[in-house]
Amino acid sequence: MATHEPAVRALCEHHQEPDPRALITRLCQELLAHQPTEAGPTPLRVLGSVRGIRGVRHAVLASGSECSGLLVPQDGGYVVVLDEHDSPGRNHRSLGHEIVHSYFREVHPGPPGAQEERLCEIGATELTMPADRVAALMSGQPEVTFEFIAEVASEFNVSKGAAARRLVDLSQTPVCYIVATLRRTKQEEEEDRGSPTLRVASWACSQSWPERRPYLGLSIKPDSLIGQAFKARDSRVGRGDPAIHHRCGTYRIEAAGYEFVWRGAPKWQVAVLLRA
Ligand SMILES: [Zn+2]
Repeated sequence: MATHEPAVRALCEHHQEPDPRALITRLCQELLAHQPTEAGPTPLRVLGSVRGIRGVRHAVLASGSECSGLLVPQDGGYVVVLDEHDSPGRNHRSLGHEIVHSYFREVHPGPPGAQEERLCEIGATELTMPADRVAALMSGQPEVTFEFIAEVASEFNVSKGAAARRLVDLSQTPVCYIVATLRRTKQEEEEDRGSPTLRVASWACSQSWPERRPYLGLSIKPDSLIGQAFKARDSRVGRGDPAIHHRCGTYRIEAAGYEFVWRGAPKWQVAVLLRA
């Protein structure tokens, strides 16, 4: 356990479980068992109260910070503050994330490090989209499509991006989810040169996805199906080579370009599903 952060090590020692990821998943599943839910979003306020969270309020959180929530100690318990600019789905997930921080604060004063943050994200996923309920939905729907992602997002009150990642993670079939937007390479940013091109900003794939190399930062041809959906901010489907630089293959492609507002600023990106 030598490589773990002090708070993570303290939690593992407290619960006598060497694997922090397995531990967080188990703690979240035990918490979910306090209020079993068969349909609709997880009752996080009820579960939060089991963890000593006495209230939730909304406020403008510091701009520029990646943080969308805060766990504030109060009278021997906590209050969670959520970013009022965020959507209800993001607020819901942030509440799940802050609930997971409460396990660490029980055994260590903090502040949270990067490993704790990653574990809180894993826990937030389990709390907002419990594996057993997602698996049950997936048994009737073997393929991950944008339509199914939208259904799952609405069922669990999470963002479509969060639902897509969870479904791809748990899928038995080969599927890859990619979000691309205009950006420069890291090197171009550092040297302040070049103009932004369509590049993969984040991605996730299922266990059985045939390509094992990462996609992050790879450019996508502007005249490809994905590039066209991005430019026109519309949805396109097709079959062929997705035209991602350095990665060949023939896939079924679903691409949806869209605009949205992030912390008050308009943004523009394309979400892509590739299926073998
Ligand atoms: Zn956090």
